[in-house]
Amino acid sequence: MTDQYLAHVANELEQIKSSGLWKAERQMLSPQSGKVQVEGNNSSAGVINLCANNYLGLANDPRLIAAVKQAMDSHGYGMASVRFICGTQDLHRKLEQSIAAYLGKDDSILFASCFDANGGLFEPLLSDQDAIVSDSLNHASIIDGIRLCKAKRYRYQNSDMTDLESQLKQARNDGARFIMIATDGVFSMDGYLANLPDITALAKKYEALVMVDDCHATGVIGKGGRGTASHFRVDDGVDVITGTLGKALGGAIGGFIAGAAPLIDLLRQRARPYLFSNALPPGVVAAGIEAIRLTESDNSMRQQLNDNTAFWRQGLSALGYELLQGEHPIIPVMLGDAKLAQSMSQHLFEQGVYASGFFYPVVPQGKARIRTQMSAAHSRQDLERALDAFEKAGKLSGALA
Ligand SMILES: *Cc1c(COP(=O)(O)O)cnc(C)c1O
Repeated sequence: MTDQYLAHVANELEQIKSSGLWKAERQMLSPQSGKVQVEGNNSSAGVINLCANNYLGLANDPRLIAAVKQAMDSHGYGMASVRFICGTQDLHRKLEQSIAAYLGKDDSILFASCFDANGGLFEPLLSDQDAIVSDSLNHASIIDGIRLCKAKRYRYQNSDMTDLESQLKQARNDGARFIMIATDGVFSMDGYLANLPDITALAKKYEALVMVDDCHATGVIGKGGRGTASHFRVDDGVDVITGTLGKALGGAIGGFIAGAAPLIDLLRQRARPYLFSNALPPGVVAAGIEAIRLTESDNSMRQQLNDNTAFWRQGLSALGYELLQGEHPIIPVMLGDAKLAQSMSQHLFEQGVYASGFFYPVVPQGKARIRTQMSAAHSRQDLERALDAFEKAGKLSGALA
């Protein structure tokens, strides 16, 4: 490597730091849970974790751990193959069928992650004669997946249904053969749900397909945790659902696409991250099956999550914080100023609460916030302690009068 190239890289790093965009990683010393041990605050009481996507508290659930151990004994550790060569076990098909049955679709296909699922979805299904109409706040993986596809791209302002309709009209006027609308089910910076009733109605009017990325919704909202389409009772209007095993459904790794049988068959033939990347390990797959079973059959985790969400919203409001309204366990505490969000996050950590600040360019200028996320793994006592910390940190940082 030349000195010149190393100097170029060092300069890039310096620019990231000087613009305040450096992302540091804190090491946790315990399993993922409602309370964790973290370097820098290794108090025996633990640090209350408000920034994991561990909605149902399954990330450290003994039932999933038992399923992993059992599957490793019966099916081994790794697959050392892609699915179509020799990487498909009975377990893989069983998980794909249980995801499909859970979401009310014909079939599903597994990927190493939802990033890969979204990366592999569009290119095989649409060509240069077609159009994709995408929400401006969609996840990076949808944006990348669309870039890899030859379809013509249209973008509408976040959840702006008037703009969505103009983009659909434009795509029709431009002569699109097929149109697909792509949206996150939940916009993760705000905790807002996509307006699926209007999106599916517009899709019908303009004969478009609808793809929903339900990563923050599967297991969390809707009947039995079936996600945003179920929440809004528009299951039939949503053609393709993508999701992850890396959030509510155990938090390990793995992604999927669920939809009509021919569409899943075509993806199995053509989706590049599926064809050219290793199969998920049996332990993860078996725990995925168990996670779906628990999510579907045991409402107590979702009940606990919803109770925690209501208690937490009420408690933060009573302290005088401004929240974004909503029903999702993502609860952003609006602070406005980026420096304030950073200082608040630091004070919270010193008070035993782990929560991240988000600021421009991740969220709009002047809309800096601390994003908090509830989990069924939080006890009432944890949340009371966390509210105390929010009161103290708010006063120390100047966020509260
Ligand atoms: C987390 C997330 C992903 C990525 O999922 P992985 O399985 O972690 O790759 C994709 N889309 C959305 C909306 C997400 O929130």
